[in-house]
Amino acid sequence: MARPLIFDAHLDLSMNALEWNRDLRWTVPEIRASEQGMTDRPDRGNGTVSFDAMRQGRVGVCVATQIARFVRRDSPIPGWHSQEQAWAQTQGQLAWYRAMEEAGEIVQIADATALERHLGRWAEAEAGSTSVAAPAPLPIGYILSLEGADSIVTLDRLERACAQGLRAVGPAHYGPGVYAQGTNAAGGIGENGRALLREMERLNMILDVTHLCDESFWESLDAFAGPVWASHNNCRALVPHGRQFSDEQLEALVARGAIVGVALDAWMLVPGWVRGASTPGNTGVSLEQVADHIDHICQLAGNALHAGIGSDLDGAFGTEQGPADVNTIADLQRLPALLARRGYSAGDIENVCSGNFLRFLRTAWT
Ligand SMILES: [Zn+2]
Repeated sequence: MARPLIFDAHLDLSMNALEWNRDLRWTVPEIRASEQGMTDRPDRGNGTVSFDAMRQGRVGVCVATQIARFVRRDSPIPGWHSQEQAWAQTQGQLAWYRAMEEAGEIVQIADATALERHLGRWAEAEAGSTSVAAPAPLPIGYILSLEGADSIVTLDRLERACAQGLRAVGPAHYGPGVYAQGTNAAGGIGENGRALLREMERLNMILDVTHLCDESFWESLDAFAGPVWASHNNCRALVPHGRQFSDEQLEALVARGAIVGVALDAWMLVPGWVRGASTPGNTGVSLEQVADHIDHICQLAGNALHAGIGSDLDGAFGTEQGPADVNTIADLQRLPALLARRGYSAGDIENVCSGNFLRFLRTAWT
């Protein structure tokens, strides 16, 4: 089977560049080597993502985030002390994406025309890959998203962000948010959240329900009539925790035509992960569990049209908290064989790897 194109629905690329100081033009081994001896973060020296590794794995399209949280003065969760600071952080992240565009590493995809043009380039390169001359590296397509909407100081910023190419918004991240309540928090979306969703709907933005606590999840689904996806979210039936979706939530998403990207963060793949004690080795976490979560979504849906990949690789964790058989993001190409062994057809596998998210965008952007 030819290696399918992979659409990764969640990567914090700019966060890695600006907060981890990783130049993603380096190879993964080069980035790891540069972090030897650093102890400021648990994932130092364990990164898995670089542009080179993405190209090796045919991860030709991704959803790339802007991310910055606002927190009150006494919050135990880290974050910025004003929404304006959070806005400035996301604008800095955008400046990095623009710089990588100028360097020819990535290309922004913000409409259907750009999407088809980009897919055409990658298909052409794959078809011509047997030629003798080494082809110039292809730019990786990225769709800009916002993980947690706290940086939207006032709603008119959303229109500005839309003009910058922002196409998907997750109203909350971890903890309480300005517009919705996120993972480990509780409560609904309130008038702020409803106003945000109305504006997103007017701008035809995608609602990313990832990280919403249950109450905010259900209220958001009710209040929002536009396109909905879950960029990186696993199944509560397999790993009991509010960060994962219940079967009822997954079924509601399928009914809305959503795609759910399965994430590779180990604590979301296997139950009972203990930070600092559990390891890929002693838990046996591997891409098999990623396939389990994908399969659970497909079984609930009754087809393979609603599951995808939202790896979240290097989303504040590295190989110390990822599947044992994932050394770099290029190893996402091991998934097709695992799915094939479970009886998935070539067409189903292609849909899970990229087809479902691409179909979703083609529909959302017509
Ligand atoms: Zn996340």
